[in-house]
Amino acid sequence: MTKLIDLKKNDNIEECAKCIKNGGVMIFPTETVYGIGTNALDKEAVDKIFTVKGRKSDNPLIVLVSNTIMLDKIVSNINEIHRKLIENFWPGPLTIIFDKKDVLPENVTGGFDTVGVRIPGNSLTRKIIEKIGVPITAPSANISGKLSIIDASIAYREFNGKVDYIIDGGLSDIGIESTIVKVEDGIVKILRCGSILKEDIEKLGIEVEFSSIPSRNNKHYDIESDAIVVTVEDKDIIHKIDEYISNNTDKKIGIIGSCKNYDVFSSRVDKYIKFDEDNIMKNLYNILNEAKEADIDVFLIESVKNTNESQVIMNKLMQVSNNKII
Ligand code: AMP
Ligand code: MG
Repeated sequence: MTKLIDLKKNDNIEECAKCIKNGGVMIFPTETVYGIGTNALDKEAVDKIFTVKGRKSDNPLIVLVSNTIMLDKIVSNINEIHRKLIENFWPGPLTIIFDKKDVLPENVTGGFDTVGVRIPGNSLTRKIIEKIGVPITAPSANISGKLSIIDASIAYREFNGKVDYIIDGGLSDIGIESTIVKVEDGIVKILRCGSILKEDIEKLGIEVEFSSIPSRNNKHYDIESDAIVVTVEDKDIIHKIDEYISNNTDKKIGIIGSCKNYDVFSSRVDKYIKFDEDNIMKNLYNILNEAKEADIDVFLIESVKNTNESQVIMNKLMQVSNNKII
């Protein structure tokens, strides 16, 4: 049976911590998205995570620690650039790939001899890890190929009965996964975009490049209907969407769009999901979940251009649409 813990009501986590240390499985909040955690040092417990997620065994799990003493126990060869990244971005949404030590079972890292680790920015998450007392696994709390979750009630719907505990810490503050980096030949390679941007790292005087992630799961952003990102300039956007609707009267069309275009289009399409450009990162997965649940043939998604986060949001939206644009 799955037990629910509501951190807002200050529920006691002692019993949960003991259970997880002994190989139990929990869904827990972080500042990025909800994660699935167990004792990362326990091979059999780690196997359960792959089963619960339906994840391929060669797709490595990220590991969370609550401090750098715990980090030193599981990784080796920490260099100057790693240290700079740690000093500037931890606790926070930056996962760094390190050489792994043998205490970490091979299944955690899907057979890789490296492991992705971070200290989470959410102090409640750090407290939970502190209580458990060992590094914990933290892949996103979703069935493989489904959208990530930033809200415990959705986690409950998907995982009730499949895990020992679900810890409700409210909505995730950031709302998208961590940025993942690897240091190679003195250069920081970004393997996955997140809220820490290329420019944020470059400010430290470090060279940064984009790279691709091994065994990447392209279905991660699947909203189960077609999606097209509308990338034209703002002044042409109404015309472009209007044209698409007129030429596709046989389709059930949805729009994921700005508040300002709601009045223009909401009565002409089957679903209009509004976003506020300034808060889109925090709400992205709730928006995508709402889109997934709607019975729509194709979603037109307005591009996001005018915020600091535009680059990373567009990266995610292009994955939602499989790079389809008009
Ligand atoms: P998730 O567990 O769904 O948050 O995804 C974590 C991502 O981190 C996966 O796409 C992994 O491929 C990637 N990852 C984790 N560990 C490593 C590693 N050691 N080397 C490269 N990529 C990694
Ligand atoms: Mg994931």
